[in-house]
Amino acid sequence: MKTSEQRIKIALQKSGRLTDHSLDLLARCGLMFTRSKDKLFCYGENMPVDLLLVRDDDIPGLVSDDVCDLGIAGLNVVQEKRLEMRQQGKTARFEQIYALDFGHCRLAIAAPEGADYAGPESLHDSRIATSYVATLRDFLQVHDIQAEIVYLSGAVEIAPQLGRADYICDLVSSGATLLANQLCEVQTVMESEAVIIQTSQTLSAAKQAWVNRILQRLDGVLQVRESKYVMLHAPRSALDRIVALLPGAESPTVIPLEGSDDKVAVHAVCRENVFWETLENLQGAGASSLLVLPVEKMLA
Ligand code: ATP
Ligand code: ZN
Repeated sequence: MKTSEQRIKIALQKSGRLTDHSLDLLARCGLMFTRSKDKLFCYGENMPVDLLLVRDDDIPGLVSDDVCDLGIAGLNVVQEKRLEMRQQGKTARFEQIYALDFGHCRLAIAAPEGADYAGPESLHDSRIATSYVATLRDFLQVHDIQAEIVYLSGAVEIAPQLGRADYICDLVSSGATLLANQLCEVQTVMESEAVIIQTSQTLSAAKQAWVNRILQRLDGVLQVRESKYVMLHAPRSALDRIVALLPGAESPTVIPLEGSDDKVAVHAVCRENVFWETLENLQGAGASSLLVLPVEKMLA
């Protein structure tokens, strides 16, 4: 096997809403790479990992065709590919591993402002413009609706004004684009966020070991995102109350304090964000010397 074939290839969006978050996530997993602006390829310097920077729509296909071993893309794009292949009688050859908690949006149907919409049946005999043909077709089938799907690769939101469609089916996060085009959201088709996918093909043992390592680190990064390390002093008598106030804490460490019988130090990892209100409540329950630190990495 050539050395290049032993390196793990990860497909990421080259330039767009998912790019910075995807690169940041991999950097937090310990991957060091140099990125030049127009290059399609980043060479991992400290791990046998290379990044392929492509259009987000191409990511599921690259993983399904074994060109890449892993990929980070929106669930909307992953699901579209899966359904497109299923509708062609084929099976996508990738598995979805984790949701990554960024790139949140939804695929939704929008109508011109003031239109009457009383549920999916209102879509009967209408024309709906979208870039997500397979997902929309599936949605219409599930609801037993006959409608015409008008494929547009971009600028879907202007289709109603151009008289090309009655509705659109497109991605929405804040709704500002819809508002600017006098459209209003009437129906969610799917919720989406970035996900990591892995090829269904069996990898060599060495490659799989690295993939497992990366996925374990990724899991560690995701787990600590909101986590904080809290240290405080507490009167022994108030310990139960104080521990109960720590958000999402699992079995805190209680340490005796030198020269003090009635006070202990409490150290705990809180799996949720710790707000000022929580600290004030802890203080109210008798805690003192409160310290909240960010958690960078965690390995179970
Ligand atoms: P390219 O195809 O060149 O990679 P794009 O224009 O298709 O880029 P972006 O607009 O960067 O892609 O969106 C990438 C992904 O970001 C979407 O597929 C979706 O998962 C997610 N996303 C989050 N919020 C939104 C939103 N408001 N509009 C569009 N996509 C969003
Ligand atoms: Zn795209």
